[in-house]
Amino acid sequence: MESISQDIFQKFGYREIRTPIIEEKSLFVKSIGEETDIVTKEMFSFKDRGEREIVLRPEGTAPIVRAYLEANLHKTDTFQKFYYMGSMFRAERPQAGRMRQFHQIGAEAIGSGLPEIDAEVIKLLTSLLDAMKIKGYKIRINNLGCKEDKTSLSKTLRGVLTKEKNALCDDCRKRLDINPLRVLDCKNESCRSLIRGAFKSVKFLCKKCDEHFNKVLACLDRLGIKYELDPYIVRGLDYYTQTVFEVTHPGLGSQDALGAGGRYDNLISDMGGPQLGAAGFALGVERILIVAAKQGPTVDPHDEKVVYVATMGDAARKKGFELIDLLRSDKWEKKVVFDMDYENKSLKAQMREADKLGAKFVLIIGDDEISKGEAMLRDMMTKEQQGVKFDDVVRTIKGKIE
Ligand code: AMP
Repeated sequence: MESISQDIFQKFGYREIRTPIIEEKSLFVKSIGEETDIVTKEMFSFKDRGEREIVLRPEGTAPIVRAYLEANLHKTDTFQKFYYMGSMFRAERPQAGRMRQFHQIGAEAIGSGLPEIDAEVIKLLTSLLDAMKIKGYKIRINNLGCKEDKTSLSKTLRGVLTKEKNALCDDCRKRLDINPLRVLDCKNESCRSLIRGAFKSVKFLCKKCDEHFNKVLACLDRLGIKYELDPYIVRGLDYYTQTVFEVTHPGLGSQDALGAGGRYDNLISDMGGPQLGAAGFALGVERILIVAAKQGPTVDPHDEKVVYVATMGDAARKKGFELIDLLRSDKWEKKVVFDMDYENKSLKAQMREADKLGAKFVLIIGDDEISKGEAMLRDMMTKEQQGVKFDDVVRTIKGKIE
């Protein structure tokens, strides 16, 4: 998955960034929001020996913005496109698709407020899933508007939902006071149906945000990306503004999000930088693996060609070791794996191993071959064998593989 992703990121012009696993707790409290689930319940936080409050990172966006500002990129190379892959940590009750240490593959485009960027990150996300041969996912999209629009939506929601307060779950009752937007994405079934009955989409977007969103949707249409408008998507993190989206998959059960993201136009300025637009997403690696396992093989494990060197005796092993180095040192167009036995196995066991690895060719070397100055090249499909002079080994294998 990682190497497939690297190819796609490279095509889109995103460069890799690696941030530390440990960050100061305040980074996430300020950015994700004091009253969010991640900050109140899900962070692994502790004090280090210097009595500093540190946490294992629960997500990638805030650390990347921190790194961007610390490196002063906002003053020199404002527009940056980053991708990341790595472990995230959330102290949750483990269940299917929900781990305390999990992995995300994500991207952040920092320094642009243009609608093309919202569309590009969504296209990037679908390109990744398509390259991983994930089928049947759904993109749901919403617009939260700017800070002022979010406040006006919160007010409307508080008004509508206060009447239903007693029927809401404990968490939602608290959310209603602190951050009513979050009631919209409660996973509790009874809250969900109540909210869907009480609240239909309302017009709360200012003209500018409405126009931005229409342009984003027009870009997505031009790219041929299918989406569903969903007024109930708000995302659990406070820093989102404008476009927010989720990718879900029916094969996942209750934890049905493969990934999510959106625009965060105030995060950079909230963290002490200039007012700059930005958008990104994160995909959950383990969730993709769950879907992939249900779908059956997605990525062909035999995409790479294997050449195995089987040797008998010390002199042959020495020669085989030399030849494998020659083979590996050459330039290969295709993905080729060169390997040999390091356990002193019998020839029969080495051939079994070559079979297990799906080897296309086996180079067999014994005392006879050493004395003739050649190796026996066996085509594992046709079972044909031919003697190849040691000096010709690389050229001959190249001719057969490429
Ligand atoms: P979030 O940062 O919460 O938007 O999460 C982005 C994606 O990461 C989700 O859609 C999931 O696919 C994945 N994810 C989040 N939390 C977990 C977890 N505890 N275990 C496994 N995957 C997770």
